[in-house]
Amino acid sequence: MKVYLYNTMSRTVEEFKPITEGFVGLYGCGPTVYNYAHIGNLRTYIFEDTLKRVLRHAGYKVKHVMNITDVGHLTGDGDEGEDKMAKSARESGRSVWDIAKFYTDAFFRDYDSLNIIRPDVVCPATRHIQQMIDLIKRLEEGGHTYVAGGNVYFSIDTFPAYGRLARLNLDDLKSGARIDIDSNKRNPKDFVLWFTNSKFGEQAMMWDSPWGRGYPGWHIECSAMSMYYLGEQFDIHCGGIDAIPVHHTNEIAQSEAATGKKWVNYWMHGEFLLSDKGKMSKSSGEFLTMSVLKEHGYDPLDYRYFCLGATYRTQLQFSYQGMDSARTARLGLVERIASLGDSAASAADISEKGKAYMDQFDGFVCNDLATARGLSVLWNMLKDEGLSNAEKRYVVNYMDQVLGLKLSEVKASSQGPQDFPAEVLELVEKRAQAKKNKDWASADLFRNQIEELGYTVKDTPAGPSLQKKM
Ligand code: AMP
Ligand code: ZN
Repeated sequence: MKVYLYNTMSRTVEEFKPITEGFVGLYGCGPTVYNYAHIGNLRTYIFEDTLKRVLRHAGYKVKHVMNITDVGHLTGDGDEGEDKMAKSARESGRSVWDIAKFYTDAFFRDYDSLNIIRPDVVCPATRHIQQMIDLIKRLEEGGHTYVAGGNVYFSIDTFPAYGRLARLNLDDLKSGARIDIDSNKRNPKDFVLWFTNSKFGEQAMMWDSPWGRGYPGWHIECSAMSMYYLGEQFDIHCGGIDAIPVHHTNEIAQSEAATGKKWVNYWMHGEFLLSDKGKMSKSSGEFLTMSVLKEHGYDPLDYRYFCLGATYRTQLQFSYQGMDSARTARLGLVERIASLGDSAASAADISEKGKAYMDQFDGFVCNDLATARGLSVLWNMLKDEGLSNAEKRYVVNYMDQVLGLKLSEVKASSQGPQDFPAEVLELVEKRAQAKKNKDWASADLFRNQIEELGYTVKDTPAGPSLQKKM
């Protein structure tokens, strides 16, 4: 199965060709763990998970590496500001190590709840300081660094291809650049590889290095750790679109300057999730988390469905109305699948029609992850009366390998949903609405009415489940 992916480097959709037959080395920039991940961050991880699932579905073995930024990410992209971790620790009165552990755990709870497959390697920056020091030494030996004001800088003038990913026009940048806050820099776009001179003297995370006691810059961690786990050349590097102009641009510069080789073949970027006020961002402090969505009565998989309904390369406007539609659609899928019974046909028993749906689905998802179109194929297949229930179950399982909506785990309902009286279904809907509004008294009232009519309703991860009382 061929896979086509949009490569930010070429700005075109390209056929994916791995470095090693049948294997994909995949690196995704992980979270900066100074606060909860917001649902915008999580959109990016859902996109990366979809990419990984598509590659696996197409027969590749994927080695997925993700870092945890627990040091060095300053509040400003241009090396200005305070370390985000140190700032969070200072504000909350906890140690940076506690902060990192707390938010890393919270991050993976969200990750798991969204049914995102965990990376094969999760690498916290603070445990790979030696790899970073080694890489900086290599850059130093190659003449790509200078020390000024106690910090080690990467000199972008030593790397002529600087800015290719972002298509930066360096002449414009130089002439139009504002006076940089850091007067040590020879070029405003130079960036710090190692800080020994922090304006925040109480910095808790510090390590010895050939340049003095200090801590690494943010960009060096991704170069050092990705190369450590995936080799000096690997297949795909991804992240959010905001990483293109500075973070990924600097990662490429330091990696390729160190090795003298092309580093990564495909660069993929997820577009933003927008809130009413524009890009959802952690630093603005105004953002939605998975917990808030759960408090509103949504299942995390509703959010996954919401994200899969848009292409990862377009901005997605968050709204509760959109979430309601996603929830209704997902529960509709669950209901339909539950009514198919538990047994799935075997691959050998799939009809030409069933295979055609699978091929159509593959054609979409392998074409730059067109999940919205993949979902519509799933719906059409389920509505098709020309397929047996067991065959539909098989095709659902097949497609869910990519969609990750836990559809293959849906248990058959003892009755088909169409067998429940409309009056009962209406009460179930009203109860769900009341719960969403946190109107617990009404929710209890509706539950009692459902019981009086001879049915029980249970809340399951897949939504409310209705049973006739025995
Ligand atoms: P951070 O934890 O801030 O380092 O961000 C984690 C990931 O989320 C990065 O890949 C960012 O590019 C991405 N990201 C940040 N904001 C958004 C957003 N509003 N929508 C989608 N992705 C985002
Ligand atoms: Zn990174």
